[in-house]
Amino acid sequence: MNTQARDAKSLGSLCPGPELLPELMRQPLGGTPLQVRSGGTSSRCAADQHWTLDLRRHQQFRYLSATQEVEFGTGLSMADLLRQLQAFNRAIPIGLSGLPGSGFVLTGGMGPLSRTQGLAIDHITQIEGVWGSGAPFTLDVEQARHDPTLAAECRGLLGAAPFLAVVTKLRLRTHPIVKLRLRRGWINPSELPAVIALAEQWPESCSLQWTWGERLEIYAVDCSPLSAPSAGLHALDPFLNAGSGGQVEQVHDQLDLPAFGQFGMETPRTASAPSNNLLHSEVLGRLGPAFADQAASVIEQLQRQMRQRPHPACRISAQQLGGATARIDPSFTAFVHRDAQWKPWITAAWTPGDLEGRLRSLAWMEGVSDDLRTCCPGVHLAQLHDHLPNHQQELRDAFGSWLPELQHLKANVDPDAKLPPL
Ligand SMILES: Cc1cc2nc3c(=O)[nH]c(=O)nc-3n(C[C@H](O)[C@H](O)[C@H](O)COP(=O)(O)OP(=O)(O)OC[C@H]3O[C@@H](n4cnc5c(N)ncnc54)[C@H](O)[C@@H]3O)c2cc1C
Repeated sequence: MNTQARDAKSLGSLCPGPELLPELMRQPLGGTPLQVRSGGTSSRCAADQHWTLDLRRHQQFRYLSATQEVEFGTGLSMADLLRQLQAFNRAIPIGLSGLPGSGFVLTGGMGPLSRTQGLAIDHITQIEGVWGSGAPFTLDVEQARHDPTLAAECRGLLGAAPFLAVVTKLRLRTHPIVKLRLRRGWINPSELPAVIALAEQWPESCSLQWTWGERLEIYAVDCSPLSAPSAGLHALDPFLNAGSGGQVEQVHDQLDLPAFGQFGMETPRTASAPSNNLLHSEVLGRLGPAFADQAASVIEQLQRQMRQRPHPACRISAQQLGGATARIDPSFTAFVHRDAQWKPWITAAWTPGDLEGRLRSLAWMEGVSDDLRTCCPGVHLAQLHDHLPNHQQELRDAFGSWLPELQHLKANVDPDAKLPPL
């Protein structure tokens, strides 16, 4: 569980089944908004003086061979889901870890396969749950899109569900499992603009991820057929430092990918620092188009920020989008930034109980976010920050000119604001 959520003085956990959930949502519970826990990896699945609605008993799994869809309860983690799908040689595109739960899918999660397969929300065909008002619903995405009264609800659920409803069951399209090739290593930060420019020329089968902590780790994934590997990963040869690994590794599927962010990061300083699972943290993700032409000045600013980071576990990372993620009409889902080619994200970390350290790290996160805003004007709301001062700005950056419509929808489906505020 997320360390900060684990340490929160929560009012307790509620674990209703499908029959009791609508009734529970109609009750005038104190301590709203309700926090919702699926995978429990975000800082807001539990909070001081709030109830948590724990979805972990929703564990159903059904593979529909006729349509090659999977139907599952939102208490499953992405790793649980992929493990069960392996029996059918199928998968969905997950992120850089199997730990997250359905929050990953519902917030528009992305990963190394997104450029070829699209975002997780782009795979949803049916969605079932209970609105904040307590009214149950089951929505077929294709039908809802063509129904003027349901289209707005459908759009809201695909990317902004945490503000509107508790989702208990999802149906998604699946893909055959693909073998992956991976190249990891570390580079000098001054070389990052050139690596970004290179990646922006890659075919969709390749994606670049990087994370900048003690060192700057490159994590490039190629999912092209084994018989016709892309040359993308080899183009990294001139950049990866000698001794930083750099061999192309082949893995069976997404669950076999090694942990992101660990390679090349162990130095005497980090080895003695507290382990990440003892720290508290917040994460803020931004979204923006291709920016190779401005990358030199942006990376210079980020380098200044990295020199001043208030805690060694504060990081800046990014993953590459584009391709299939950009081919969806922006008005179909709540993920409006379909022109995004990059998602940089900022991790602010501090030692539990260090209140000044928390404020310093959060201010640093906001400073980096401000520096990135010009090239990455959008926000990816994979983590909710309704407890932080910049929540309203994040909502505007996440949903753009569609925000008033989303707020109108929330007023209808969650009139008593049982779920996080918009
Ligand atoms: C190790 C790690 C790696 C990650 N890698 C990626 C990545 O590669 N790409 C990416 O896009 N993101 C990534 N994330 C971010 C992660 O996908 C999001 O933070 C996601 O929201 C977490 O979902 P969860 O169910 O695990 O968390 P939770 O804390 O349980 O939920 C997160 C939020 O979603 C809401 N929520 C969850 N389930 C439901 C539901 N069924 N109905 C209504 N609301 C719900 C909750 O209100 C909560 O605020 C990563 C996170 C971690 C910890």
